[in-house]
Parts: sequence; C-alpha cells; structure tokens
Amino acid sequence: MILLRSLSHVLRSGRTWVVLGVLGVLAPAGMLVVSGLMLLDLRRDAWRNAEQTSQNLLQVIERDIARNVEIIDLSLQAVVDNLRAPETAAASPRARQMILFDRAASAKDLGVMLVLDENGDSILDASSLPARKVNNADRDYFQAHKAHAHLGLLISKPVVSRLLGAPIVVLSRRIDKPDGSFGGVVLGSLKLSYFARLFDQIGLGRDGAINLYLRDGTRIVRHPYADADIGTNLAGTPNFERFVRERGGTFVGTSVRDGIERHYAFTEVGDLPLVLNVARSTREIEAEWRAKALVIATVVLVLCGLTVALSLLFGRELRRRAEMHAEMARLSRTDPLTGLANRRRFEAALADAGADARRTGNPLSLLVVDADHFKRFNDRYGHAVGDEVLKGLAACLSASVHRPGDLACRVGGEEFALILPGTDEAGALRVADEVHAQVSGLAVGSAGIEPGTVTVSIGLASGIHQVHDLYGRADAALYEAKANGRNRTRCAPARLREQANGRALRVVEA
Ligand code: GH3
Ligand code: MG
Ligand code: MG
Repeated sequence: MILLRSLSHVLRSGRTWVVLGVLGVLAPAGMLVVSGLMLLDLRRDAWRNAEQTSQNLLQVIERDIARNVEIIDLSLQAVVDNLRAPETAAASPRARQMILFDRAASAKDLGVMLVLDENGDSILDASSLPARKVNNADRDYFQAHKAHAHLGLLISKPVVSRLLGAPIVVLSRRIDKPDGSFGGVVLGSLKLSYFARLFDQIGLGRDGAINLYLRDGTRIVRHPYADADIGTNLAGTPNFERFVRERGGTFVGTSVRDGIERHYAFTEVGDLPLVLNVARSTREIEAEWRAKALVIATVVLVLCGLTVALSLLFGRELRRRAEMHAEMARLSRTDPLTGLANRRRFEAALADAGADARRTGNPLSLLVVDADHFKRFNDRYGHAVGDEVLKGLAACLSASVHRPGDLACRVGGEEFALILPGTDEAGALRVADEVHAQVSGLAVGSAGIEPGTVTVSIGLASGIHQVHDLYGRADAALYEAKANGRNRTRCAPARLREQANGRALRVVEA
C-alpha cells in the first residue's frame, strides 16, 4: 500500500515525466548530435590527411622530374656550348665525344643523346662511335627548332624511339651556325620507363592516378600505366583547364577518362611546360572513414532506438501501473455487489461533508436505510436472490438522489446510507419518501418477488454545525422506525432541541 501510494506520488509529480522526456527524447537526440559532429570531424580528418599526402607526393615527384630534366638539359646546353669551341672541332672523334657528352651519364633513364645536323641526320651520338644512323628531320621538335631560333628547351610529345623502339619524350635544343642560321639539333631522350619506375613506388589505391601532361594537354604518362593513355590530349576538358589556369592547387573533379570522382592535387613542374597531378578517388579517401562511420552510426542508432524504446516501455508501464492503482483505489472504496460506495468511502465522505457543513453553515442530512426482515428473504428465496434484492435496493437509492454531492453507500449487509450535503431535514424527508416509493416498486420477477414485498426503514438525521454524531442519531432514529413497525422514516430530533426538550423523536409515516 505504501509502495502504491509512493508510486502514485511519483507519477503525479511532473518531475517523473521530465526525467522520462529527457531519457526518451533529449538523451537520444544528444547522442545523435554528438556522434554526428564526431563523424563530421573524422571525415574532415580523412580529407586533411588525403590532401596532405597528395601534396607531399606531388612535391617529391615534381622535384625528381624537374631535377632529371634539368640534368639532361644541362647536358644539352653543354653540347651546344662546346660545339662552338674551336677546340672541339679540332679534337679527335673520341675526344670530341667525351667533351660533348661527359655530363649525360648522370641523368636517370636517358635513352639516347644525339646531335643532328641541319638535315636531321645524326652526326654525333653519346653512346656510339661512329654515330648510329638515323634521320629525325620529320619530328615536330626538329621542324620547330628549324623554324624558330629561340625556343630554348623543347619537350616533345611521347614518341617511340627509332633507335631503341621504346616510348620516350625527346628533350631538344637548337644548334646555331656561327652566322646564326639553323645548324641542327641536340637531343636527349627520356624513356617513359623513368616515370613508370618513379610512380610505381607510390600506392594511391585502386582508383588513384598520377598524370604528367605537356602544357598543350598531351598526356605524357599516366600511372597506373596503360599504352592507350600515352599521347591522348585532354586540352579543353574542365579538369585540364583548371590545371593550366590555376597552375597549382587542389580540387575535386570528375575524370573524363573513367567518370570517377577524384581529388586532384596539381602543379607545374619547375618552370618546365609540364603539368603534374596526383589524383585520389574520393570514394577511397572516404572508404576508411565510411567503414568507421557505419559502425559508429549503427551502434549509436541502436542505442538511441533502445533508449527510446525503453523510455516508451517504461512510460507505458508507469501509466499502466498508475491506471491499475487508480482502479484499485476505486475498488477499495466501492462495494463489489452493488457498485455503491462502501463503508470506507462512506466514512471518509461523511467526515468531509461534516467538515464542509461546519465550515459553510450549510445543512447536512443523513439517511440510514435498512431492509426490513431481510433475513426472511434469504431464508425463503436463498442468498442469491437476497443479493438481487440488495442490488435492486442500491438502484432504488441511486434513483432517489439527483445532486452531484449526494452519495449512496452500502454501509453493512443490508444497511445503506445516503449522504445529502446542503440538504435540510425537509429536503431529506422528501428524499426518504422517494426511497420508499422506489422500493415499493422493487420486484425480482425470476424469484416471484412482487412490487411492494420489499420495504425499508429509514433513520434520518440533519444538522448544521453539530454534525459529528449524525450517524449515531440517524441509527437511533432507524432503531425507532424498526421498533414502530418498519417501512417508515424516523427523524432524529435536532440536537439543541433534543437537549432542551429531553427527548423527542418524531415519526413520519411512510
Ligand atoms: P430487520 O427488519 O430487523 O432489519 O430484520 P433483518 O432480517 O433485515 O435484520 P437482521 O440484522 O436480523 O438480518 C440481516 C440479514 O441480512 C442477515 C444476513 O443474512 C443478510 N445479509 C447481510 N448481508 C447480506 C448479503 O450480502 N447478501 C445477502 N443475500 N444477505 C445478506
Ligand atoms: Mg434489516
Ligand atoms: Mg440490519
């Protein structure tokens, strides 16, 4: 009982519902927000790492290529310079070869180094004496140097070497005759295997790529290597436009080659007409994060779901218990046979009504109603029929009162009471008459109990300020009614009058 009362208190207190609200709604929402922010942070970290890695790679590759090209170019320049010296012309062929090509050996993956005359025929060869025979007059770089005097270093599109049969790019410079006219070309070829080797050390995932382009959009090489990628021109594609326009930086774009979205880090190579990029698939950048996010999100969602579900269950259980408690409280105050208020409720209600009457000065009346010779009904018709009669009597009492404050009660076996707040003796007498009238119509057809068979005796007591002994006085009046022949109402005398007159019970015939 104490437990039930404290439970009901907890339920009634708003704090419980606030706690449930926090548990059921705010806690999961908080969890979702915090884990969402955490996931966003992890994603930012993944991107920062990827960007940093790409930039570092880009720098390392760019330096290696720039350095290698610079070494070859220095060799080409040395050839151009030394060819002008009269000592070179005077030297023996072997000495001349040594003077002209001494620096060439330090470059990585240098293919051939040749001097071509103004007709494109090889006249000097760094690695063969006499020079291997080849004519490159048809090559773009040869034509360009022939047509223009001051092109400086030219880097060709990828071509297949005529001497080596391998894919190469050709680095070339023009040789001027003493009079300034075209005197031929010195060239060094760089094998594409150099790039392949350089890039192969780098892991960029399945969809990662490294690209080296000429500034005109021609792809020199792509990692991972595929023959089909060599020499394709990407000028005019959105990504390549950005490489050229911005010269260096990062962005996310979609490849025209395979439609894969990638993060591009790109730069020019030194001051050479080359564009280099390191590209990583955005899906792969986020792959690790996505796996983590999936686990975290699943766990958080499950936990949130559980919290919400548990809160709902807990709330429902609390509500169910509250309802059960209310029902038990109602039952504990109700007579199970007739559904009227039971003795417990009667006593509480009478005390409350008494307190009200004392406070407000309004009259309070009490009728105590007892079935006449009820024992005989039980004896004659059996207990079950007796119960039916009791239910009928309860209905008669309920039908006799109409005000919301009136309360019909079953106070004992076949004894009932009507509490009539705000009702004086006259009013209560009218109610008593109504009770007699209702009871006179009571019948239990199945048992052959005809209307008029059942009667009740009523003791009536009224008071204004002196209401504490109302029940005792009504009971005494009932006793008088019984003693005077039953089926009637007796009014208890008003207390003051009773004191003044000694005793005076008035009988009202039913
Ligand atoms: P009186 O007119 O003097 O009141 O006579 P009475 O027989 O009504 O009074 P008495 O107190 O002698 O007997 C009351 C009877 O009411 C006794 C009991 O068998 C019966 N009774 C009490 N409670 C119940 C009940 O719940 N069901 C039934 N069927 N009978 C009950
Ligand atoms: Mg009786
Ligand atoms: Mg009785």
